Amino acid sequence: MTNYKTLNDLPKAQLGFFPTPIVSLKNLSRHLGGPEILIKRDDLTGLALGGNKTRKLEFIIGDAIKQGCDSVITAGAQQSNHCRQTAAAAAQLGLECHLLLGGIQPDQINGNLLLDKLFGAHIHWAKENRKGEDIPSVRETLVAQGKKPYLIPYGGSNELGACGFVNAGIELSSQITSDKISHIFFASSSGGTHAGLMISKSLLKASYKLVGVQIDKDEQQGSTFKEQVHNLANQTCQFLGLDISYEHNDVVLEDKYLGDGYGVIGVAEQQAIELLAQTEGILLDPVYTGRAMAALIDKVQSGELDNTKQVLFWHTGGAPSLFSYANKLHN
Ligand SMILES: *Cc1c(COP(=O)(O)O)cnc(C)c1O
Repeated sequence: MTNYKTLNDLPKAQLGFFPTPIVSLKNLSRHLGGPEILIKRDDLTGLALGGNKTRKLEFIIGDAIKQGCDSVITAGAQQSNHCRQTAAAAAQLGLECHLLLGGIQPDQINGNLLLDKLFGAHIHWAKENRKGEDIPSVRETLVAQGKKPYLIPYGGSNELGACGFVNAGIELSSQITSDKISHIFFASSSGGTHAGLMISKSLLKASYKLVGVQIDKDEQQGSTFKEQVHNLANQTCQFLGLDISYEHNDVVLEDKYLGDGYGVIGVAEQQAIELLAQTEGILLDPVYTGRAMAALIDKVQSGELDNTKQVLFWHTGGAPSLFSYANKLHN
């Protein structure tokens, strides 16, 4: 058996309730007429309405505490689930929380933004810089005030964050018979979920295919998202002292479902959200899981999947942002 010593030795803050449940989506599977679809409910991680960032933050906040930091700084979109879960974790552990959110202060404060405020987070409006470009300047301000801030990158996607999903893949293997599963679908956007699941798949020698549904268009300049996931996976292997390295094409990203870009809800997302709600009573979100589920539905309907196997949808959370899309979802 592989030695997970390094992973188990990392400092961890206990922020969520694990393992998260897995259930069969019987009604949805019957409705679509394809393979049996299972769902991994990381929307139920338990930290402040849940989501995949809880797993990353257990390692990241664990490190912040070990280093004796008294504050955290991170960044995201106005409706960032990562920022909401960070704000809650910081409140739980008595850390001051600074969030750099994209855009400007909206007239209506709701969804995740409302929750950020309830958790007492300090909000800095970062206009077009929603990916943490302004973190260094906030850091300087806090240091000048005598504070010891801990920096958390956009989406919590560094080596420590990815470790949360190495753990998650191992958790999954204790819950299911993985050779029955042909594919795992999930929303992929800052890469930590994807990189971590790639590593646990390698450690477990699992046969399922990981399909990251890309949520955000590639930037005009700089590296592609695929390169970012590839680099993070290799860096995390190095960090954990694992003798594994990936090729660029080991990262499987589905980039046909980008629609009009990040956070823009289209017909496909809307239909996926309504279908899950009405067949299973489960809430998806407009930005991530609605898009990832729309991709899975399309794959089933186009007959690309093996109906004799199971497919697993990894629910990464996000439903608190539904309320800020009320006008677009309600018709
Ligand atoms: C952040 C997020 C993702 C994407 O995970 P990454 O590790 O950033 O790729 C998917 N779904 C939801 C709901 C998220 O908040």
